[in-house]
Amino acid sequence: MRFDSYDAVVIGGGFYGCVVARELRQYFERVLLLEKEHQLLERASYRNQARVHHGYHYPRSILTSLRSRLNFPRFIAEYTDAVVSPSAQYYAIARRFSKVSASQFTLFCNRIHAPLWPAAHDIKALFNPSHVEDVFSVIEYAFDAAKLRRMLQTQLTDVGVEYETCASVDTLTPSRSTCRVTFDMDATPHQVETQYVFNCAYSLINGILSRSGLPLVPMKHEFAEMALIEVPESIRDMGVTIMDGPFFATMPFPDRGLHTLHHVRYTPHHSWMDAPGAEYFDARRHFETFRPRSHYGHMIRDAVRYIPALAGARFVESLWEVKTVLPRSEVDDSRPILFKPLDTFRNIVCVLGGKIDNVFDIQEYIRDFIGALR
Ligand SMILES: Cc1cc2nc3c(=O)[nH]c(=O)nc-3n(C[C@H](O)[C@H](O)[C@H](O)COP(=O)(O)OP(=O)(O)OC[C@H]3O[C@@H](n4cnc5c(N)ncnc54)[C@H](O)[C@@H]3O)c2cc1C
Repeated sequence: MRFDSYDAVVIGGGFYGCVVARELRQYFERVLLLEKEHQLLERASYRNQARVHHGYHYPRSILTSLRSRLNFPRFIAEYTDAVVSPSAQYYAIARRFSKVSASQFTLFCNRIHAPLWPAAHDIKALFNPSHVEDVFSVIEYAFDAAKLRRMLQTQLTDVGVEYETCASVDTLTPSRSTCRVTFDMDATPHQVETQYVFNCAYSLINGILSRSGLPLVPMKHEFAEMALIEVPESIRDMGVTIMDGPFFATMPFPDRGLHTLHHVRYTPHHSWMDAPGAEYFDARRHFETFRPRSHYGHMIRDAVRYIPALAGARFVESLWEVKTVLPRSEVDDSRPILFKPLDTFRNIVCVLGGKIDNVFDIQEYIRDFIGALR
């Protein structure tokens, strides 16, 4: 059993927890990061579509798209070694059931100053014209999550954040000015005292709150499947997104040298909500025990209608993850972030970033939060 005391404890060593811990070291002497998996960036920060957003994806949320436009060059500059560039990226507009037309998409991109060109003829020829109205070439990159992990590990060590993997936080016991954090590591219970807790456990934020008898934060979860595929030669070096509705995207997944296939209709297998006052649905146990049948067959059959060459794709395996968003994302597909000190214990802060590039917004929240304390 370990007893120790820290200025801040960060729960969850995903991209967000790592960056939060790194930033906190500017203000605090002793920062401890606890991650339940055997390595950092193992969960949602690895099992995602690897897209560094540049605004194009959110024609229904001007705020999210503008924030992405601003954060994109910062992400590229700060995490250069983890960014795979340039890969050719195309956004195609579906003829039917799309929430934007090609001319609306062009107007939107002009409005947010996102660069856009008509795709070359040989690229357009890859798409089925009876399903696709137009195809645009854009500037967007993929990131390599394994390289990002290595960067963050080095940064944490350099700035002097203490971190433990295979360390699963069980409960928080807050008092007025401190909090006891109980966690399991090496099959042994441990406890540390801290002034501040930053709960960056993504889909499991409410699991920790629920076990601790603290109020839940409203969140929506989706049990998500992303297929990893080997794409045919003709589309090997490109990413394609069909806009804007129940369609698919295929993006390079650099760490595996493969592509992801993500489908708005078939990637989510089912969803549930956490709401204050409602009984908590144990997302961790659900994730560890539930294995539904793959939807890959549905995904690829639909994708081939838009890009016939995808018939030559080879399925490798599926990545499974619980995707978590704030309920208001439902309305406009936006990706707002959460930085929420609990009402009852302001020294416990829940942090949820809707996508990787939102991290710069979180850095601003931390500065404001610490500024208000001093
Ligand atoms: C299917 C899918 C596709 C996506 N595509 C994109 C995309 O293309 N581009 C983009 O920018 N974003 C994308 N996202 C969103 C992006 O992945 C997330 O916003 C981001 O990874 C969240 O980072 P995080 O650190 O909060 O979460 P995570 O990386 O999940 O980190 C949370 C960590 O907390 C740990 N943890 C949980 N409970 C405990 C506990 N009790 N004790 C200790 N540790 C604990 C977990 O093991 C985990 O490592 C996608 C997400 C999904 C699921």
